[in-house]
Amino acid sequence: MNRKTAPILLYHGVREGTDDAIRDPLYGVPAHVLAVQLGWLRENGFRTLALDRLLSFGDGGERACAVTVDDCLRSAYTHILPALGERGFTAVFFAIAGTIGKPGWVGWGELREMARSGMEIGSHGLTHTNLASLPVSMIRRELVDSRKRIEDGVGERVRYLSLPGGYRREGVESLAAEAGYEAVCGSRWGYVTEGSGSYFLSRFCMKAGDGIPLLGDIMKRSGPHLLWRTRRERFREFARRAMGDAAYRRLRGWLIPAGTPRELPCFPADG
Ligand SMILES: [Zn+2]
Repeated sequence: MNRKTAPILLYHGVREGTDDAIRDPLYGVPAHVLAVQLGWLRENGFRTLALDRLLSFGDGGERACAVTVDDCLRSAYTHILPALGERGFTAVFFAIAGTIGKPGWVGWGELREMARSGMEIGSHGLTHTNLASLPVSMIRRELVDSRKRIEDGVGERVRYLSLPGGYRREGVESLAAEAGYEAVCGSRWGYVTEGSGSYFLSRFCMKAGDGIPLLGDIMKRSGPHLLWRTRRERFREFARRAMGDAAYRRLRGWLIPAGTPRELPCFPADG
């Protein structure tokens, strides 16, 4: 039996978001690329659904997707929010509770405005610390306190968690469920498949150089660009596991041009 699949797209900041605390040359998508990608989705009859609707696999079929935005850098508000709004799209914005209102990050008023305009606000932890490196008591604090802080500040229920840096560790899903989250978004490249339980959600992280051919393949569930990228992502996951996270981060650091502001506590290693 062919099971249904659903794509969840993942964006980080926009490269031209010059007020951002972080400008990541790999993950920051140029503003015009974001506009072209969202425009292509719109012109081709795709619509965005809230995560719970997408995961019900009931409506939208192959013309539905969900958009998620990690970190909530300033450009999430200044660039991504209007680009979505212009096309009638919605997204889940995952905020790091401890950075909200700090220079380069979205503020509380902006988050409330985003929620009022139909966006959902999720948690990306308190401090963006790799949960796999923490003892269980600290993970609980990251999950429970960030959720409460965002719920109190935004005035809406926080239903979803995005793992900081995409680091998944054994047992994190049950801790997230215990903390009241309905699903956990990771950075694993791939579709959510009907009947898979759908608590840990794979996503498609759109990077700076990604264009319409890849997005088109993702939406039609096949094609050479998707095949190539999936192989690359699986190799990267393998390398990350084999090398260990510290070595992997060092290697990635060498690949990023000198002078890029990245020595920040919330630098998204991978998500
Ligand atoms: Zn992140």
